[in-house]
Amino acid sequence: MSAGGTIVVVGAGQAGFQAAASLREAGFDGSLTIVGDEPVAPYQRPPLSKAYLAGKATAGTLALRPASFYADHRIALRLGTRAAALDRAGRQVALASGERLAYDHLILATGARNRPLPVPGADLAGVLQLRTLADADSIQARLAGVETVVVVGAGFIGLEFAAVAAARAIAVTVVEAAGSVMSRAVSQATSAFFRQAHEAAGIRFVLGASAERIAGADGRVTAVETTDGRSLPADLVLVGIGVVPNADLAAEAGLAVADGILVDHTLLTSDPAVSAIGDCAVFPSPFAGRAPTRIESVQNAVDQARCVAARLTGRAAPYAALPWFWSDQGRLKLQIAGLARPHDRAVTRGDPATGAFSVFCYRHGHLVGVESVNRPADHMIARRLIAERLPLAPEQAADPAFDLRALVRAAAAA
Ligand code: FAD
Repeated sequence: MSAGGTIVVVGAGQAGFQAAASLREAGFDGSLTIVGDEPVAPYQRPPLSKAYLAGKATAGTLALRPASFYADHRIALRLGTRAAALDRAGRQVALASGERLAYDHLILATGARNRPLPVPGADLAGVLQLRTLADADSIQARLAGVETVVVVGAGFIGLEFAAVAAARAIAVTVVEAAGSVMSRAVSQATSAFFRQAHEAAGIRFVLGASAERIAGADGRVTAVETTDGRSLPADLVLVGIGVVPNADLAAEAGLAVADGILVDHTLLTSDPAVSAIGDCAVFPSPFAGRAPTRIESVQNAVDQARCVAARLTGRAAPYAALPWFWSDQGRLKLQIAGLARPHDRAVTRGDPATGAFSVFCYRHGHLVGVESVNRPADHMIARRLIAERLPLAPEQAADPAFDLRALVRAAAAA
């Protein structure tokens, strides 16, 4: 595409914001509009379950850019506005208001929404989910008088919220269907460490059981009843059982969709005038043997946005950024480089008993992911090791005397 033309971005989240900002940075001089259904300008979601709920950040500090940025960069922000349909033949986006926006290229950055809890009572007052600033505000408003919380789902958001609630001296029980916490995302060693650390902070776990029914009185939640016969008292229930990608707009317009919007190695959908990025996109990841992969992370949203902006301004390249991720749970910072799951061997560097260690995960003899807990230097080295595919034997990784930094330095010199 030339330096001019009209680009419409649907979704005013991390990826949509970054696509617009990177397009301007790369010299795109045409018309640029972001359509977002939330009423606020693009903001960071990660602090919602961490600093924001802990009262250590305000809505103002979450904004990705001040309002002046959009005016200064001639980015039209259409907030509180839902894109309702796509007319691909006519290259137009139909807004819920009935207005139509023409485009030469369309970027879908529609993100994901929370998976609803499919049990009776899930609609009672006090049963909440966390995805948006509005969700965080409504949780914050209710937390003040709460004594007992049940968290359904021991994923990242559930555990981050559990840590914040426990720090406020609220009694927290986490119910998880799997037998361990964060089981889909991390190694057994990391999972076991986090469970013990949370238990030491007073959080109780009910593993291998699901929420079967939410009980209430006068329209408000009072307890969570589990498949193993327990009734767990609750003033507030936080449901964190994963997300569903927002792919309906794309599917209804006939684009290829399968657990997200399917894109090729350059993040183009099945229509060459439409790209998809961020949480909603399923792409062939070079770090997963090019298997269709959907990643929910800030890194993925930002790097995919940059990749599409580069393509649209004449610098096309396959999307090949290394996945990385972080999660802050109480005083523990977990950082993951690469795609650690699945793996067939894992070795630990450092002593988990000290509260700082890394787990190096291997698949078929290759290092595929490194999970670091309170070891940020390991994480930064791990990114280089995996991205540059530097050879590191498991025995070397596990040996605290083996100098990882020297290995990376030697590779750079070579
Ligand atoms: P989103 O940020 O979800 O933005 C999509 C936007 O599009 C939304 O505003 C949505 O409402 C809007 N939209 C959807 N459909 C339409 C439509 N038809 N018309 C108009 N607008 C539409 N990642 C990390 O790496 N580390 C973390 O610690 C971390 N913590 C997190 C904590 C929380 C509480 C949450 C919710 C997420 C966290 N994440 C974290 C994940 C990270 O925030 C997401 O991966 C990232 O925001 C994805 O960006 P996105 O732009 O693809 O989607």
